[in-house]
Amino acid sequence: MGLAKDFFIYLSQNKVLNSGAKRYGLKLGAKSVVAGTNVEEMIESVKALNIQGISCTIDNLGEFVYEREEATKAKEQILNVIEAIHEHQVDAHISLKPTQLGLDIDYDFCFKNLKDIVEAANRYNIFVNVDMEDYGHLQPSFDLIDELSKSYNNIGTVIQAYFFRAEEDIEKYKNYRLRLVKGAYKESSEVAYQDKQLIDQNFVRLIEYHLLHGKFTSIATHDHNIINHVKQFVKDNNIPLDKFEFQMLYGFRKDMQVQLAKEGFNFCTYVPFGDDWYGYFMRRLAERPANLQLVGKQVFNK
Ligand code: FAD
Repeated sequence: MGLAKDFFIYLSQNKVLNSGAKRYGLKLGAKSVVAGTNVEEMIESVKALNIQGISCTIDNLGEFVYEREEATKAKEQILNVIEAIHEHQVDAHISLKPTQLGLDIDYDFCFKNLKDIVEAANRYNIFVNVDMEDYGHLQPSFDLIDELSKSYNNIGTVIQAYFFRAEEDIEKYKNYRLRLVKGAYKESSEVAYQDKQLIDQNFVRLIEYHLLHGKFTSIATHDHNIINHVKQFVKDNNIPLDKFEFQMLYGFRKDMQVQLAKEGFNFCTYVPFGDDWYGYFMRRLAERPANLQLVGKQVFNK
């Protein structure tokens, strides 16, 4: 299991394979977990989810961008998404990654890109979630959020439970709308729990803390044990339904997504789209090699 995880994480970071994947389109199983390559296809997927009572957070796929031109193009595309959300009046908001907007190129350049997006979204009252990436980008991403939230309140972020510092961060950001996750990147034992059980325990601790003390909690997991625990916890503590939501990734545990929405819980699906699907998809395989089944299904459904 550990080896498979390392292998897929290694593949997710391979630049040659990444650019090859862009050229060859949505191949293998990626099609079942990526909602199309353009805004039109993505909006159709969002509408289909909205009809089932599911709200969406839209991710224009892309990360670890090292060219200004590419980062600017990504910003323009996210602005297109904001316009499309408004034009089609779909129930959706934005998720984005700072490294797609140039965090590795220049902090100020990235800040300006992010500000343009948050400002445009703010005009339509659309929320923007800053996804959290690997540890090297964690503090600069929090710095971007701190600076932006002086002027805007339609912004929130993610706390990754595998980090030792997560408890401090959740305390500091408790007045933000937060997505809580276990954490998807390979991190060193100096900064992050490695043991799955310890990560799960910390995840539950953070969820309970933010549900009791925080603003709005997005519980982002496919783990039925944690979902069941949360259901019982909110019942026992009289936490109102409008204080939290469950989130899952597009294409994963689809029946459970619909079921949770039917049970009356707020549910939000993370909807990635675009041609830069490779790193995203490989991380999903690293998390759960059984996701390779999605590849199998896709191949046989052709
Ligand atoms: P896991 O620990 O992978 O699985 C636990 C158990 O749940 C499994 O043993 C299995 O029994 C069951 N299970 C899990 N998946 C399935 C499935 N597909 N089918 C059947 N059973 C299943 N990470 C970041 O680092 N930064 C982010 O910004 C970020 N954003 C995210 C947004 C969303 C909406 C989601 C859902 C995840 C996000 N992640 C992010 C990824 C996250 O950190 C985890 O890596 C990922 O969700 C896998 O952990 P898990 O909690 O889903 O369950």
